[in-house]
Amino acid sequence: MHIPTEILLIALRKWGVKSKQTFDSFADVELHACSRCGICIDPCQMSSSGVSKNTPASYFLKSVRDKEINSYDALNCLMCGRCEENCPVGITTTNQRLAQRINQANNKQGNFSYLEEINYQAKPDVIYFAGCMSHLTPGITRSMIKIFRKAKINYWFMDEDGSVCCGRPQKLAGNLKAMEQLMGFNKKRIVESGAKTIVTSCPICFKVFSEDYNLGIEVLHHTQYLNRLVDQKLLPVQADNKKVVYHDPCELGRGAGIYDEPRKLLTQIAKLIVTKHEKQDSLCCGGSLGNLEIEATNRSRIAKDVVDELTRTNPDVIATACPLCKKTFIKVASVQVLDIAELIAMSIPEPNERVEKYKDITVLQEELV
Ligand code: SF4
Ligand code: SF4
Repeated sequence: MHIPTEILLIALRKWGVKSKQTFDSFADVELHACSRCGICIDPCQMSSSGVSKNTPASYFLKSVRDKEINSYDALNCLMCGRCEENCPVGITTTNQRLAQRINQANNKQGNFSYLEEINYQAKPDVIYFAGCMSHLTPGITRSMIKIFRKAKINYWFMDEDGSVCCGRPQKLAGNLKAMEQLMGFNKKRIVESGAKTIVTSCPICFKVFSEDYNLGIEVLHHTQYLNRLVDQKLLPVQADNKKVVYHDPCELGRGAGIYDEPRKLLTQIAKLIVTKHEKQDSLCCGGSLGNLEIEATNRSRIAKDVVDELTRTNPDVIATACPLCKKTFIKVASVQVLDIAELIAMSIPEPNERVEKYKDITVLQEELV
């Protein structure tokens, strides 16, 4: 069955038909084009870390085809995209999983009326949207504030007085109605502010603002924006000899194709060491919001495997560009874990009296976290 559907799939792609996140006839063709080759099994960390043998896409797609899919199996996946990256047929496995979640979700309206009370600042040039996870790792938001001030940017910290969800977690749970409600509130405030650019610190927010909001303004992840500020010489960064490894977050790397900007920033301020799983082959930190069933101990198990891999070369710092990755790694790592925004903020020379204070990097790290 898979050979004729695979040929049909190739033809549909040539005609420009693309996968959506709902179960339509294209998704049905994709589903039956899976050859059950099993190539997606080994890259799946839910399997390789011994957390769940049922999660890999090969088994998931079979259970959908056999109409045996249940809610637990649909939700017990990191949505990291490693299976999709390795599938020789190009099956959009995360969209397939999302379509099943949408089918199974209760899809109720949420109550987000409290958001109407929040004021917005008129006429900023740039909106900064930190996101829920950045509020839980405040070193990142403090670093971004320092950077905006240092570069003298007319910015508005849109979610400064409390976390306003971007809506993507609702989407990953299949709750499209709640997601659309949240997006409606956020979009109104963004558009009415008159800003031309929105900068996010969280790759999850970045992806949903880029793909689902249709804002009509520039959407940047902070690694892209920081590159711009450094290129425009608005941030006087200074290099030191720290050995840094970079972890590509799933949603920023495989999810949004942003691989070069973080590396360009890091090579300007530190010694960047190459790791085994880079770019498209990057491992998931284990903290993914995409998995709604995994237990905390199993998240830590995956995170520990990834940190062991990242620290083979004895780096001084694990750098990442996602608050969720940072928060997940910190629990299991014995080296410093910092977001690129924090490293950039640290690399900006302070007035003389502060230079002494921050000679030891751990002092600033303690202040930031
Ligand atoms: S790699 Fe692709 S074709 Fe092979 S089993 Fe996995 S989803 Fe199916
Ligand atoms: S998205 Fe990640 S966790 Fe889910 S099946 Fe694919 S490789 Fe495994």
